[in-house]
Order: sequence, then structure tokens, then C-alpha cells
Amino acid sequence: MSVRAPDMKALADRVLAGERPAVAEALNRVEDTRAAERARAADLMAELRAKGAAKLAHTIGITGPPGVGKSTLAGALVRKLRADGRSVGMLAVDPSSVRSGGAVLGDRARVAFDPSDEHVFFRSLASKGQTGGLVDAALSAVGVLAAAYDIVLVETTGVGQTETDVRDVADTVVLVIQPGSGDTLQFIKAGIMEIPDLIVVNKADEERLAKQAQADVKQALAAEARAEARDVAPEVLSVSALHRRGIDELIALLDKRAAERDPEALSRARRDGSAHWIARSYRRRHGEAGLERIGGESALHARVAAALDGGTAPERVALDLDQPA
Ligand code: GDP
Repeated sequence: MSVRAPDMKALADRVLAGERPAVAEALNRVEDTRAAERARAADLMAELRAKGAAKLAHTIGITGPPGVGKSTLAGALVRKLRADGRSVGMLAVDPSSVRSGGAVLGDRARVAFDPSDEHVFFRSLASKGQTGGLVDAALSAVGVLAAAYDIVLVETTGVGQTETDVRDVADTVVLVIQPGSGDTLQFIKAGIMEIPDLIVVNKADEERLAKQAQADVKQALAAEARAEARDVAPEVLSVSALHRRGIDELIALLDKRAAERDPEALSRARRDGSAHWIARSYRRRHGEAGLERIGGESALHARVAAALDGGTAPERVALDLDQPA
């Protein structure tokens, strides 16, 4: 055979060096669901995760209902981060459960990207018929971008499963709402929604509206905290993405979080996120029968946790689970 297997080590090195064509190729590979390709993608991810572990970027999930200005905000963040000399990778993930009917997710952010800028990368991931939550490839796609860029933004939309999913792939979750987002506040009060790390009230173009919106959020959080006996509340910040007000403050808060995070707690959180992700994706693909074959829910979790603790890359763990014993 004259065709040589593509060299995943070399590709990983190019991704780590932030080479755009390599990043694009790596993302194509992790989206490819054919068996042989999955094995190669797992090799690539193992390589990236081993070599890039020390420099893995701060990954920031940006979530919230459609129309609140997530894309506009992401665009404003990218501009500012680039002006500060930091490289940014952005992933827009359309959850299959959400049909916004409006603009393609991330579109407004996409226009903020200068196509000639080497240090910024945008990609959207489609759900490809998968039902519920974020597409399986999102975990690896975030991993690719985190190996190549300083900051990774993951934009997604919807409330509920989407938030839980984002939590598993991002170090920090930012919930974006707008003044008068009563429904979202009800979700928070009722404890239906996972509590994000940061709440951004966007479209705070007017001082009075912004103040009122912040007060509403704080009240909802206080109600939830009482119900859950929780004593740490997320920070709440008002911004105007359109007028680029409050963006510096938001970046400062995000950086503070990144600087203050305990490395051990961080790697534990990443491990747990990957474990949830792998187990959920296994259940989705193999259903009840698959779960039984493996010995039930707790056996699945134990197996995944042991493999991850042993240093196996998440993609390899997922692949191994799919092999018949
Ligand atoms: P997404 O669906 O959450 O990503 O929202 P978009 O970023 O697509 O924005 C939805 C609409 O809100 C657009 O018409 C934006 O121009 C507008 N928008 C975004 N940010 C602001 C803001 O800070 N103030 C105002 N007044 N409008 C905004």
C-alpha cells in the first residue's frame, strides 16, 4: 500500500503551534463518525491532551435564550481579546433540541472575525440529527481549540439540558440574559436551571433598566440559594454588547476566575465533565440494552472514571466502550 496513515503526532504538533489549517483538519477529524476515523481522532486527541495539558486554555461557555445577544457579546469579547494580543478559538454549537428559527447561531460573532487574522478561529458544529443536548463531537472540538488558542468560547443556546452539557465542556459558564428575562429567572428560582458561574445582563443600554435587571437577578438567586441552602452566588454583571460597554469588566472577571482556580480542582472538574460526557453519549448511542450489557449505570461510571484516572484520553475511553467485550 502506498497510502500512508496520516501522522497524528505531526498534526497534533501543528495544532499546538496554532496553525489554522491544522486546527481545521483536526476539527474535521473529530467530527468524523466512521469507525476507522474515530480511532485516528482518538489518537490525535490523546496526543493533544498529553502534550497540551499544561497550556490548556480557559474555556468559557456562553449560554442563554435565543436573542439575548450572545453572538454580539462573543464578537465583542473576541475583538477585545485580540486587541489585548490573545488568541481565541470559538465554537458555536447548535443544540438539536432548539430551533431558534432566527439567525444561525454564532453568525453575529462570525462577522467580528477578521479572516486574515491568524490568531482567531471560528467553527460551528451542527447537531446532525442527534436528539437532545450538544452534539457528541463538542467535547473533542473544544479540546482541539483549547490546545491551539489562549481562550476558547463555546456559544450555545437554550435552557436546561444545554446548560448541563456546556458545564461538562467548559471551565466557566456564563449565562446571558436581557432585562425582563422573566422566564429564565423563574427557572433559576425554581432550581430547574443549573447555576452558572457568571450572569451577564446584556442590553443594559440604559442605566435604569440595567439596575432593575440586576436587582431581579439577585432576587432570583437569593430565592434559589435559600431553597438549595447555597451560600456562594455567581457574580452578576450588566453589559451592553452592542455599545461595547462593560466588556473590559467582563474579561477582568473571567481572568480573575482563571487566575484563582486551583489547578487540582480544575483538573478534577475537567475529568468529571469528560466522564459525564462519555457516559451520556454512550447511553444515547446504545440505549438501555447497551447500559445493561455494561452492567448498569454505576458500572458504566466506574469504568469511565477508572480509565480517565489512568490517564486514558476521553476519546479513547469512549471508543473502548464501544468495542464488544
Ligand atoms: P443571540 O441569539 O443571543 O446570539 O443574539 P444576537 O447576538 O444575535 O442578538 C440579537 C439582537 O439583539 C440583535 O438584533 C442584536 O443587535 C441585539 N443586541 C445585542 N446586544 C445588544 C445590546 O447590548 N443592546 C441592544 N439594544 N441590542 C443588542
